[in-house]
Amino acid sequence: MNGSLSTLEPPAAGAARTPLSEALEQFDRAARALGLDAGTAGLLRSPLRELRVSVPVRMDDGTTAVFEGLRVQHNDARGPFKGGIRFHPSADAGDVRALAMLMTWKCAIAGLPLGGAKGAIVCDPRRLSLGEQERLCRGWIRQMARNLGPAVDVPAPDVMSSAQHMLWMLDEYETMVGARVPASITGKPVGIGGSPGRAEATGYGVVAVLLEALGRLGLDPRGATASIQGFGNVAQHAARRLAGFGATVVAVSSWDAEDRQAYTFRKPSGVDPEQLSAIANRFGTIDRRAAADLGYEVLPGSAWIEQEVDVLVPAALEGQITLGNAPRIHGRVRLVVEAANGPTAADAGRLIEDRGVLLVPDIVANAGGVACSYFEQVQGQSNFYWERQDVLRRVDALMTAAFADVHERASRDRVPLRDAAYLIAVERVARACRERGWV
Ligand code: NAD
Repeated sequence: MNGSLSTLEPPAAGAARTPLSEALEQFDRAARALGLDAGTAGLLRSPLRELRVSVPVRMDDGTTAVFEGLRVQHNDARGPFKGGIRFHPSADAGDVRALAMLMTWKCAIAGLPLGGAKGAIVCDPRRLSLGEQERLCRGWIRQMARNLGPAVDVPAPDVMSSAQHMLWMLDEYETMVGARVPASITGKPVGIGGSPGRAEATGYGVVAVLLEALGRLGLDPRGATASIQGFGNVAQHAARRLAGFGATVVAVSSWDAEDRQAYTFRKPSGVDPEQLSAIANRFGTIDRRAAADLGYEVLPGSAWIEQEVDVLVPAALEGQITLGNAPRIHGRVRLVVEAANGPTAADAGRLIEDRGVLLVPDIVANAGGVACSYFEQVQGQSNFYWERQDVLRRVDALMTAAFADVHERASRDRVPLRDAAYLIAVERVARACRERGWV
């Protein structure tokens, strides 16, 4: 894996900020506020295990390409590791570490009996044939299998990985162990071990906390306006759900791999998520010309953040709201809901909060995905599958309760929601480590 454990030291003054430095800085604040002893803090700053593998793949043209595979298992004191596998050409070990740590906190806040992990394959699936993708998925699992399993570590999809990828991985894992073990990977297709509702769960969970937050601000979703960055799995379902509650989503954005830049698609009367889904590819890239033909204004990628709306929902990638663009957030914005993982730099987050905007942090806002993954594991373990509405009702209840816990802690300790979320999460994980006798 690139870098060494020394990268877990706090960044030197002036060093570039990264998702990992942000995650560590946030953790350190919580550790100090909770008065954690040095041993416990040291344990929680570092992943328990990191795996880096080379995955050889026979390409369609007969050559062999070697892909880098990563898995970071941050902490499993509260239960088996859980976390997605990202397919991305610039996936980076430091980012994967940060995301693994965020998963530990996210599961703890949601009250799930799970730990945190994250994986990646450094690749661009858009440039691989289906056969090459299948061989890559199977190769990753063969290398990682001895460190996975329903009681050890349970992968799931993430950016650019799909239910089909998870099924190939599961099939390879089951072939290796000689048994059907549906609870060993989540995010599978419905009907072959997948949970009804999984595709919608993260977006629905985002909207569940968004509605709770609007309520705390005294705003009615009917008449509320929002701008969303991204138009992938999370953004599309959040947009549909929001529209269902009578809110108007005036803009969404997406990354155009051909042009290597993002575009914002705006319609002041409200975008139609169904219509845009019909002209988006499976990676969430909206067809620019088709959108223009449908009457959407096609603006630069940065325009999503400048909209005169009540709510901003970053739902694309990490590191999107920085000190550089946060001042461009319109004065009307009252709420930012972090649907993506780590979309806001810590300093930009403080700037936003200082302006009186409520910022719901990622580890609360997008926990609907892992909550549903947990329900998929539970269903897989009993080989008994629930109705979609039962699953989504449970996701909704869990998200509403998690938001209430965090909001109450924030009011009690007079801290922003992000700090409150970290206090709750770190406290729960530290307690589990202590009670196990690790520290
Ligand atoms: P996805 O791959 O389905 O979609 C990503 C979207 O972001 C695409 O529309 C892409 O075009 C767009 N995008 C990428 N870079 C962009 C840029 N610079 N500007 C504008 N748009 C850009 O991914 P997803 O599953 O929707 O995940 C989105 C975020 O939510 C990620 O941070 C992911 O880690 C997080 N998340 C996802 C889930 C889940 O269940 N899918 C769960 C928890 C957290």
